[in-house]
Amino acid sequence: MPEVSRMVQGLEQSGIRKVMALADGVPDIIHLEVGEPLFQTPEHIVRAGQEALSHGYTKYTANWGIASLRKAIAENRNDDYGLELDESNIGVTVGGVGAVSGIVRAIVDAGERVLVPDPGWPNYAMIVRTAGAEVGFYRLSPEEGFLPTVDALEEALTPDTKAIIINSPSNPLGTVFPAAVMKEVVDFASRHDLFVISDEVYEKIIFDGRHVTAGSLDIDGRVIVASSFSKTYAMTGWRVGYAAADENIIRQLAKLQEAFVSCAPGVSQKAAEAALMGPQDCVGEMRSTYQRNRDAAVDALTDAGISFLRPKGAFYIWVDLGCEDSTRFCQEFLRQKKVAVAPGSTFGPSGEGFIRISLASREEDIREGIRRLAQFI
Ligand code: PLP
Repeated sequence: MPEVSRMVQGLEQSGIRKVMALADGVPDIIHLEVGEPLFQTPEHIVRAGQEALSHGYTKYTANWGIASLRKAIAENRNDDYGLELDESNIGVTVGGVGAVSGIVRAIVDAGERVLVPDPGWPNYAMIVRTAGAEVGFYRLSPEEGFLPTVDALEEALTPDTKAIIINSPSNPLGTVFPAAVMKEVVDFASRHDLFVISDEVYEKIIFDGRHVTAGSLDIDGRVIVASSFSKTYAMTGWRVGYAAADENIIRQLAKLQEAFVSCAPGVSQKAAEAALMGPQDCVGEMRSTYQRNRDAAVDALTDAGISFLRPKGAFYIWVDLGCEDSTRFCQEFLRQKKVAVAPGSTFGPSGEGFIRISLASREEDIREGIRRLAQFI
C-alpha cells in the first residue's frame, strides 16, 4: 500500500479542533471556542440566494467570479477607502481562507519563506506548509501591544523570504493596526522586496479606532488584500471571499482556482452581491452586539482579576493565564466546568500560557463562561 503524503501527515490538527472534538455530543457545553458569528445570514441576503437559484445560478462561473460581483466589490472598496480599483483587481474566492491560500500559492514557490504572525490564525502556517514553503514566525509581543515591529520582522527575515502575512483586526488578539504600524510594515516589505498579504476579514468589526487597509498604502502592486463576506454578513457557510490586488496577481489566482475549486459557488456569489448592494444596518447591528459582548467580557475578567488584552476589533478576547500547557488547561476546563475555549498554543509558539475566548457567542454564555473560568483557576 503506498503511503499518503508525508507533508499532509505532518500537518497537525489545531488545538481548537481537539477541544471541539472533546466537546462533541456532550450536553450543556458553553461554546466559546469557535469564530462563528452568533447570527443567521440576514433575511434579504438569504432571499437573494433563493432567487439566484430560481434564476439558474446553479452552474460554474468564471474562475475569478461573476463580473457584477467583482465590480461591486471594487466599487465598495473604492468608496470605503478612497481606492481606485476596478473589477480586474478582484478575484472572488471560496471564503477568506480561499483568498489567503490562493494568494500564497500564486506568489510563493516551494522552499521560499513566508513570515507569519505569532500569535496568529493557525491556518496561515498550514497554508504556507501545504504550498511547500517555509514558515517564519514573527513575534507580536505584549511589550509592543502585540503589534508588529520592524525589529521582530527583521529577526524573522531570511534571504529566501518572499512574503509577509499580516492580520488586522487580528484573530486571536483583537488588535487593530494604527496607520503608522501599517505603513511601517508596507515600507519594510518594500525595502526587502516582499509581497504583503493583508488578511482583513474582520475589517467591519471594529470597536475602537478605524480600519486602515494595507491596500491604501500600496504604491507598486506588492500588497494583496484578502477579505470575506463570512464575518461581516454572517455568511460563513456560503463560502465567499475575495482577493484585491494588482491584475497580474489576480490572473494567477484565477488559474489556481481552476486547478483547485473552479470557482466560488455561483449562488453564493449572487447572495454576496446582494449583501454589498443592500441595506448595511445589519453590519452595524452585529458589530454593536459584538461590542456589548466585548464590554461584558472586559468587565467580567476585570472583576475576576484575570489579565487580558482589551480587543479593539474582531470578536475574540486574548486572556493571559500564565498556564504551562494551554491545551491541557482547556481540556480540563471543559471536562470539569463544561466550557469550551481555544488554547493559546494553537496560535503559535508565543501563544502558550494564553486562551482565546470567542465574543461571537451569547452575552450570558460569555459571562457564565468567565464566572466558571474564575472558579476553575
Ligand atoms: N482569516 C482569519 C483571520 C479568520 O479568523 C478566518 C476565519 O475564522 C478567515 C480568514 C477565513 O474566513 P472565511 O474563509 O470563512 O471567509
